[in-house]
Amino acid sequence: MPQDLKQPEASYRKLGAKMVVGLPFKEIATTDTIYMAELPPASDKEARRALTRLQDAGVFTIVPAEVLRQNPLQHAVALMPLAEVAAAHRDGSVQLPEGAGRLVVRVDGTETDEDLACLKEVDAVMVLLNIAEGTSRVHAGRRVFEHLHRQHNDIPVIHHRVFPAGTERSQLAITAGTEVGALLVDGLGDGALIECPGEDLEFLRLMTFGMLQGSRMRNTKTDYVSCPSCGRTLFSLQEVTDQIRERTGHLPGVAIAIMGCIVNGPGEMADADFGYVGGAPGKIDLYVGKEVVRRGIPMVTATDELIELIKQHGRWVEPPTEENEADHEQQQLEEAGARA
Ligand code: SF4
Repeated sequence: MPQDLKQPEASYRKLGAKMVVGLPFKEIATTDTIYMAELPPASDKEARRALTRLQDAGVFTIVPAEVLRQNPLQHAVALMPLAEVAAAHRDGSVQLPEGAGRLVVRVDGTETDEDLACLKEVDAVMVLLNIAEGTSRVHAGRRVFEHLHRQHNDIPVIHHRVFPAGTERSQLAITAGTEVGALLVDGLGDGALIECPGEDLEFLRLMTFGMLQGSRMRNTKTDYVSCPSCGRTLFSLQEVTDQIRERTGHLPGVAIAIMGCIVNGPGEMADADFGYVGGAPGKIDLYVGKEVVRRGIPMVTATDELIELIKQHGRWVEPPTEENEADHEQQQLEEAGARA
């Protein structure tokens, strides 16, 4: 990651930040936290400035405490293993490294109940759950959550999964989905931090947000549900889904179902807000929730009518254009001025 800071603007964008006059601003799909296993030296002013700008934008920078003791960073979030935190707590108090403002505790699932109980007493902002090698992530993770639940401890828990450099992307997605996603769908955890040295930051961010969205944790884009298609499908599902995505992909929090027929489609739309369902050859029925509101619309106008319906229900926002981007930039500059 220190090497990513050599091209700060590119890195800000990969982290999902919006750029306003060269400065990063947080948006809905911006990474909340970055983890730096090492830091650029204090003499590397440009890289340090890039980190400070991310912190100013509200992106937490988590750094291992032993790294911060050698190379302090103002306002960093110090990461300490639970065993060390528990021992320091029993001896009196937990000392943060110079410059660090907050504490994050790393839990690997092998800790004693006594050490886990200490999480209730120390002033930490979150737990990074990074299960020890050779231990079942799902089972050890469930034990930690069960313990926190018994202690009525609602400290946020972020799943930290580290993959070796060079792991195939498909393997990353499948393993993260099965190990981390399996716990998130059960409501166990508040976020995910996926680390893979050398992997593109944007890929990691989008994959992680995709997992959070699939787990119904955080919506950063429009949610689509579509049927698998079969002999009853009344239109090209792939083509139509692509067309609808292209025009509605900027609506986080909105779920749209695209179903090939009315035989099973409406029953399989899950909890979608709007439905686009094949009613007859060349004709589409539109739904709001489970209720059909327009029947037999010609396919050529159905996407326009779907968008009209979304507007009528107050769920539409205009997609970013140069003009509304400029207004947004002005607003963010004013907010930044107010913060200064
Ligand atoms: S919704 Fe209709 S077209 Fe789609 S898979 Fe089910 S039966 Fe087939």
